[in-house]
Amino acid sequence: MSEKVTVNTERCIGCGICVNICPAKVFQLINGKAYPVNAERCLLCRACKTHCPVDAISLGSRVIQRENNHIQAS
Ligand code: SF4
Ligand code: SF4
Repeated sequence: MSEKVTVNTERCIGCGICVNICPAKVFQLINGKAYPVNAERCLLCRACKTHCPVDAISLGSRVIQRENNHIQAS
C-alpha cells in the first residue's frame, strides 16, 4: 500500500520531532504542520509514532491499536 504513514494534521502541533527523528526523512514541516511528503521511503521503524507527543502519526494500512494509553512524562 502506498499509505505507509499519515499525519493527523488537526492533532499535529508542529513540534518537528518526527522531522528530526525519521531516518528516512519522510516528514517536512509546512505551515507549522508535519506532512509525510516522502511516505514511500518509510521504513516502518515506528520512531515517529513513538515520539510524537500528540499521537498524530498513523503507520501502515492496517489499524494499529494504541499500544500505550499513557505518555511517559519526562
Ligand atoms: S516509521 Fe520510521 S521511517 Fe517511517 S516515517 Fe516514521 S520515523 Fe520515518
Ligand atoms: S512529532 Fe507529531 S506533533 Fe510533532 S511535528 Fe510530528 S506529527 Fe506533528
